[in-house]
Amino acid sequence: FISANGLTKTYQMGEVEVHALNGVDFEIEEGEFVVVLGPSGSGKSTLLNIVGGMDLPTSGEIIVDNIKINSMKDKELTKYRRHTVGFVFQFYNLMANLTARENIELATEITENALDIDEILSAVDLNSRSDHFPSQMSGGEQQRVAIARAVAKNPRILLCDEPTGALDFETGVSILELLLKINKEYKKTVVIITHNASIAGMGNRVIKLRNGKVIENYTNENPLSPRGVDW
Ligand code: ATP
Ligand code: MG
Repeated sequence: FISANGLTKTYQMGEVEVHALNGVDFEIEEGEFVVVLGPSGSGKSTLLNIVGGMDLPTSGEIIVDNIKINSMKDKELTKYRRHTVGFVFQFYNLMANLTARENIELATEITENALDIDEILSAVDLNSRSDHFPSQMSGGEQQRVAIARAVAKNPRILLCDEPTGALDFETGVSILELLLKINKEYKKTVVIITHNASIAGMGNRVIKLRNGKVIENYTNENPLSPRGVDW
């Protein structure tokens, strides 16, 4: 479903070349719950941005549903970003001047097959916070809004960059439980990137990155529950 073939990414910083990705290959099947694990600077965010069509590789190809993302025309690429993928970030990235409901509405306005906003608000357990602004919500609540915003567009893939990085243990567990529910009940392919090795136990596929290379890639028949992982 998602296939990365020989992906490289080199940033030219004046005289210096930074090799963020050095030949990354992997396959992800639709419906998988994938954890990409790697230390800071290993290329995780670079990789996620390329999968999401937000950045281009220097060489190699990224294929989603038999379509090569990195050679799409602008119009198709915009469609891909709007319909096929949803992003969740470490610091939520909500619009500060919009309420929870308005943040979600804004995302659904650009898609054709959006989900019902009240349904998705209940799915993330936020009906009682729908008229709150981001500054009136806890970090965990803001992340729930961010997840609702991404899922409401009804994308096939949810890409999450350190979704629990700013949260305490209990809140992190509840966010991971929510992402698992989105994976199972909404049948979304979920990709989480993290530097927290404990979270890897939750993945039914685990891809380990180091220095821009895949050093391990395995499937896990019996993933741990978020609460079962050893933090
Ligand atoms: P972290 O866990 O700290 O978020 P990461 O695994 O997400 O790290 P990336 O952000 O993908 O790492 O960065 C990989 C490498 O590429 C790093 O050495 C970084 O300095 C470099 N890099 C990332 N973005 C750019 C950029 N826009 N210009 C130049 N170098 C960059
Ligand atoms: Mg990163």
